[in-house]
Order: sequence, then structure tokens, then C-alpha cells
Amino acid sequence: MKTQARVVVVGGGVVGVATLYQLARLGWYDVVLLERHELTSGSTWHAAGLLPLFNMSYSVGQIHKHSVALYQGLEAETGQAVGFSQVSNIRLAMNQDRLDEYRQYAGVAETIGIEVKFLTPAEVLEIWPLCHIDGLVGAIQHPDDGYIQPADVTQAMAIGARKLGAEINRQTTVEGFKQMTSGEWLVKTNQGDIVCEHVVLATGNFARRTGAMVGLEVPVMPVEHQYIVTEPHPDIVKRHTDGLPELGVLREPDGSWYLREEGGGLLLGCYEKGAPICYTEGPDEDAEYELFPEDLDRLTPHIDAAIKRVPAFGEAGVKRVYNGAIPYTPDGNPIIGPAWGLRNFWLNEGHSFGITAAGGAGWQLAHWIIEGEPTIDMLGVDPRRFGAYASADYLQAKNEEAYASVFTIHYPDEERPAGRPLLQAPCYERLKSLGAVFGQKAGWERANWFAPSGTPQEDDWSFRRSGWFEQVGVECRNVSENVGILDMTAFAKCRIFGTGAEAFLDNLVANRLPKTVGRVRLCHALNSIGGVHGEFTILREAADSFYLVSAGGYQRLDHDWLWRHMPRDSSVQMINLTSAKGVLVVAGPKSRTLMQRVSDANFENGVFPWLSAKNITVGRAPVTAMRLNYVGELGWELHHDLEFQNQIFAALMTAGADLGLKPFGIRAMDSLRYEKSYRMVGTEISIEYSAYESGLDRFVHPDKGDFIGRDALLTRRERGNAHRFVTLEVHDVTDADALGNNPIYDGSDLVGRATGGNYGFRVGKSLALGMVHPELAAVGTELRMKILGTEHRVTVIPESPFDAKNERSRA
Ligand SMILES: Cc1cc2nc3c(=O)[nH]c(=O)nc-3n(C[C@H](O)[C@H](O)[C@H](O)COP(=O)(O)OP(=O)(O)OC[C@H]3O[C@@H](n4cnc5c(N)ncnc54)[C@H](O)[C@@H]3O)c2cc1C
Repeated sequence: MKTQARVVVVGGGVVGVATLYQLARLGWYDVVLLERHELTSGSTWHAAGLLPLFNMSYSVGQIHKHSVALYQGLEAETGQAVGFSQVSNIRLAMNQDRLDEYRQYAGVAETIGIEVKFLTPAEVLEIWPLCHIDGLVGAIQHPDDGYIQPADVTQAMAIGARKLGAEINRQTTVEGFKQMTSGEWLVKTNQGDIVCEHVVLATGNFARRTGAMVGLEVPVMPVEHQYIVTEPHPDIVKRHTDGLPELGVLREPDGSWYLREEGGGLLLGCYEKGAPICYTEGPDEDAEYELFPEDLDRLTPHIDAAIKRVPAFGEAGVKRVYNGAIPYTPDGNPIIGPAWGLRNFWLNEGHSFGITAAGGAGWQLAHWIIEGEPTIDMLGVDPRRFGAYASADYLQAKNEEAYASVFTIHYPDEERPAGRPLLQAPCYERLKSLGAVFGQKAGWERANWFAPSGTPQEDDWSFRRSGWFEQVGVECRNVSENVGILDMTAFAKCRIFGTGAEAFLDNLVANRLPKTVGRVRLCHALNSIGGVHGEFTILREAADSFYLVSAGGYQRLDHDWLWRHMPRDSSVQMINLTSAKGVLVVAGPKSRTLMQRVSDANFENGVFPWLSAKNITVGRAPVTAMRLNYVGELGWELHHDLEFQNQIFAALMTAGADLGLKPFGIRAMDSLRYEKSYRMVGTEISIEYSAYESGLDRFVHPDKGDFIGRDALLTRRERGNAHRFVTLEVHDVTDADALGNNPIYDGSDLVGRATGGNYGFRVGKSLALGMVHPELAAVGTELRMKILGTEHRVTVIPESPFDAKNERSRA
């Protein structure tokens, strides 16, 4: 074994081997993989080998697409057959909501270049003659989909990596890590030590154990998963002797099963309700090729559903049942990217569709390690999207739920109940008594909307306008006409201070920092290639102290970004204030009157202008009031020590009763922000688009001096932008607004995608934000956009369709 390498990859399953291979393909040949037993001896060997392209996530969809393309060429490159049966994949729909899910997915697929066909029940029967089609309303088919032999594809990538100079050491167990003063990592193994620049963990079911070696609580815990292989069935054998093609992979999400041919028989896999978490303490030290005892009771409802659909399955004898461990995360997506709080330490863990994802995950991670950035938006799989709240107990509840939800309908407004409520702002109970219907973000309970008294405090999910739509309109109108109150305690907050704070932040963001104490600016942190990593609201609290607010869902990500770029000479310090500070937003034309009633401070425009902040008291509570909001109305964000929240909340509610003060929720906020063309991190703002492409020109000041991403941004602009941010009016909408990833066409040409959409109650229009080719971004341009399969006429309209001059915010 080498004693020195650029990268050490730990784990010889499909994911680790793919990472090694992709690093070598990108030109880093001095890379080493360490596997405690044999390659594939973890979860990889017993996988069913399916390669489902279907995924609602923009990041994961691109990762899966890359894998499928890569695997097709592996045999020619390495000489190792991978058993890729490109038999297609058919997903059945038994109700209209499922079809809507497929229509929404087809938009995602089209924007990332994955082919999807819609099938009628009769067409399903033609392709899959052993299938009963009663109860079906349709289906989709992925022609490029199929299955592969997991061990063979792993071996092929191992051969490919070795050919390029990579080294693989089997029977080599990693026992610990130490970061040396040089920044390099010392990896301790049972075969000796190895020093490297970067470490990648790809340890599957061992992720929590290997993570713990460097103090990480990795949010991965496996769940049991079973599939059954039958003896050959005469009808399938006959198809083969008749020279008919192999049947495609068949999925019935409503029955929660998948089926494919295997050795003249069938293989049925089920996502069972009640499948338990396993390996809570990690597998045994000597575990390899491990399976659990079968649990047929758990499989029975799915077997019954499958037999109803494909009676042949019930006619074949059972050959073997596999019950193995699948790594899971709370949202079911893998974690691929940098480990928080550590330099040059990477995670490629939590893969529940690891055979499908490995090639693409390795591809992006290799770019990230070698070039410093991935090439696609990886927010959906970034390890830092979870936080310290993801304890073992939370994982137990959430990962079982994520597994059981693989085949549920993924509504855009879906909120899953397990492990909740977890993080609650003090005003939680008060909001609940006012009708709040809660959702969860980064562990925090947030009111999505408020059910009127006497109506059920329940959500109603749909791909179309739901039962809550009208009530969100009521909330928006109240904000616009009176005043609303919104709990935004979930915001990520921190203080950056010290003698070097100003210089550090100035280099971190593209905007000029607020010069004067008490001023606030919206600032964007770019990545090294001029894409937008994130957005911070920055308040200058003192000459050398700044208060930063950013998206609640990305607290760990944003704070890790700050930490990573901070000078290491202690001239800059950071304090995480997320759990110490609460935030209540008051917004609407009567918010000034409200504030004047609860505080002695002067809220007049000349004294307390837009984008400024003051330390005030509300009753007896000290509050930092920042005059800004995300809804485009006169208003203040009230930041306070959490223990004062209920006092402040009560004071506001009492003083605001005759002003029409009413709570509003996240869904109303979302509608209101579309009318202002306010971008959101994770949808409109991403590393895939430069700051100029995202239309952030007024927040970018290249003449202020150097900042991260500046030169790359200017070079990109000189070369010509590939996209341009637009605000769109969507015409002839009756019941379904854009949800994001909607393809946009000029004639029949695909020219962009909506990043999101909503109905704007103040302007009375269905709106969308999106990216199109720059030559089509002029106001007045007429294009077309698909929403749930229906094409709509859309018009590019001026940014901020509501109150373009911000007269209300500045009033
Ligand atoms: C029944 C079943 C069916 C499945 N079907 C499919 C499917 O059809 N399609 C699909 O995409 N996915 C499927 N999966 C999921 C798939 O198996 C996993 O996502 C995938 O195998 C994960 O690969 P991995 O490399 O992350 O983990 P593993 O294959 O578990 O590899 C991790 C490796 O790390 C090694 N390791 C751990 N700790 C150390 C250490 N300290 N030192 C050195 N080495 C270490 C382990 O020995 C192990 O070999 C299925 C899973 C199950 C259980």
C-alpha cells in the first residue's frame, strides 16, 4: 500500500469505486481506495440493480442521468461486462394525482434532457402483456432505463480506475484519521498509515461510525429492504424461446412495488410500510455480504398488490428472499459534498439508490475536489442541508419515513409528520391556537398557512391549487391592506466580528457592505466561478461587528461557507445565533402605526428609513428592528432574544387588534415574493447561473475591489451570458400555477425553465420566475410554458410586477 496519495477514498462499494474512477478520469491518478473486506461486500452486492431515472429533484435527476450514460460505455472501455439490460422502465398511475406527479416530473426530465413517454393503459398492455390494466389511468416510460449487475459495474469501474493508475487496497480497515498541521490527513489503517490531501468517506452502512472518527454525526441510518426472486415462470420462458424482448421494469407506486425479469422468473422488490431502521450502532466489525432474516408478513400486502396486477408472479415458486440494509437520510436523498467544519474531508454517503447514483455522484464529487466547485446545483444533496438537530433518534423516525415514502406521491406542498414537532419557536402554541397549519424546515416548525376558525387545521396537498389557496389569498390581502405578522425564527443568524471582519465580509460578497452602523444590505456570496452560493442580509452593528441573516434551510451550509473562507489568524470571529434569536416580521401599510403603539422609538421614514436597523424596546423586550421584508410592504423584522418572544408577540397582537393584525404563513410569503420577483436560494439562485444571469446586477459591484468569484464573473459576462432571469405572466391558468422546472419554449424549441411560480393575489395574475436564453428576455417577449402537461402562453413582464418602484417598502 502506498503511504502517500492525493485522495484516499474509504469504502469499496459502488459509490467509493465510482468516486475513485471519476477522480482518475479527471486526471488525478494518485488516488487510493481502502476497503475493509472485499469490493461490493457491503450493500452493493445484493442490490437489485435497477437504474431508475425518475427523480423529482433537479440535482439527483442530473446525477442519475450521468450514471446511466456512463455505465453504457464501461464495457467497451474496461472489457468488463456490466450486464446493462436497457429494457425501459414503466411506472403505472392509478389516480389523477399520480398522473399529475408524472406530468410535473416530465417537466423536470425535459429540462435536464431525460426522455419520458406517456402511455395509455392499452399501450402498457401491449408492452407488458402479463400485466392486468384494470384501475390504471396511464403510465410513463423511460426508454433509457433498465437494470445492471451491481457487482459487475463496480468491478468495471475498479478496472477503469486501476488502468488510470489508481490503487485499490482490499482487506484494509480504516481505524482513524488525524489532520496534521500541514493540513494533510493521516489515515490510520490495520495495514499501516497513509497520508493524503483529501479524504472521501463512502462507507455505506458504516457512515455514522466512520464519521464519528472525525467528530461528525453523519445523518445516515440504514433501513431494511427486501426483494423476492422467483423460480422461472413458463410464460416468461416462452417469451424468451419465442424471441420476444425482455419485459421492462414495472413499477406500481400505489402498491409500493417494482418488478423485473430475473433468470426466466421475476424479481419483486417492495418499499414496505414498517420496514425498520437497522445497524443503529453500525454493522458488526466483521460483517460482510450480510443479509437479515426475511420478513414475509411485511411483504404480504405488496405481494398481494403485485399478484393482482401481474398474476404470473403468484404462480411462480419463491426461489430466494433478500433482506438487506439500504443507507438512508431523513429526506431520502444522498449526501454528497464537503463535510461541515473540516477541510478537505468529503462525504459520499447515504445512498438509497446507490447503484443508480454512484457514477454521477462520483462525477460531481471529483469536480468539487479537483476544481473546488461542482458543475451542477448540488443543494439537494449537499451534506450541509441537515443540521445538528438530525440526532440518532430523529434519524430513526425520519429515515424509516423516507423509506416508506419512496413511492408516495411527492406533492410540492408535502409535509411529512415523523420526528415532529422538533424545533419550536416560543410562539408556536400561540400560532397554533390562531389556526396555524405547520410545515417543517431544517427541523423548525413554521406556520404554512392559517385555517379560519371552525375549519379543520389540516393541509390539503395537490399539484394544483389546493384547499388552502383561497385562505392564502385572504392572508396576502390582509398584509397588503392592513398588517400581518409572520414568525421567521427559523432564519439562520450569526454575528461576524473582529478587527478583520469588514475586510473578510467585503471579500466574501459581491455587494458593498453597509458603511454606516445601523444600515442593512442584501449581499450575495458567489462561488469561485461566479455562480451564486447564497444570500445574506448584512447589518452593520458596529465598526467591526456584523449581524448576518440567511435562509433557515441552509444554516449549516451558510455558516460552514463563512467558516471556510474566514482568515485563520483569529482576526475574525463567528457566533451562531440561530437558536438564540427569534424573528417576528410585521408587514403591511399599518405596520408603522402598530410599531408606534408598542415602542417609544420613532418609526417615521426620515428617522427610520428603509434598509436601516435600530435597537428598540417593545414593551420590556430589547429588539433589533430591521426595516425590510421579503413581501414588498412597509414593515420590520424584529430580531430578539428568544425568551422575549411571547412578550413581544402578545404586545403586537394586543396593539394590532383594531388595525386588522393577522398572522400569515410561509405560503402567503411565497406568493407575495413572486410579485416582487424576489429570488430564493435553492430555486432562482444557484451555482449553475452567474450572478448576472440571475439578474442580480444591482447587488454586484465589481469596481469595489476583489471579491470571491469576481474575475470569473466578469469573464463569463465577456463571453456572453447563456441565460437570463425573467419574470413571466402565465396566461389562461385555471387551477395550476407553475411549480418549478417547467419547460419554456419558443415555438417548439426548449429555451429555458421556470424556477418556480405562484399566483399573485395583489396583481391578480399567475406568475413565474425563470431562466431563458438572453435574446428572449426582453419585456413583452411571448413564449410558451408547460404546466402539468398543458402549454400556456407566457409573457416576459417587467421585474417586480407589484410596486416596481418599492414605494410601499419605502413609504
Ligand atoms: C435489497 C436491496 C436492493 C437494492 N436495490 C437497488 C437497486 O435496484 N438500485 C439501486 O440503485 N440501489 C439499490 N439498492 C441500494 C444499494 O445497494 C446501495 O445504495 C448501494 O449499494 C450503496 O453503495 P455504497 O458504496 O454507498 O455502500 P456499500 O456497498 O455498503 O459500500 C460501503 C463499503 O465501505 C466499506 N467500509 C466501511 N467502513 C470501512 C472502513 N472503516 N474501512 C474500510 N472500508 C470500510 C464497507 O466494507 C463496504 O464495502 C438496494 C439495496 C438493497 C438492500
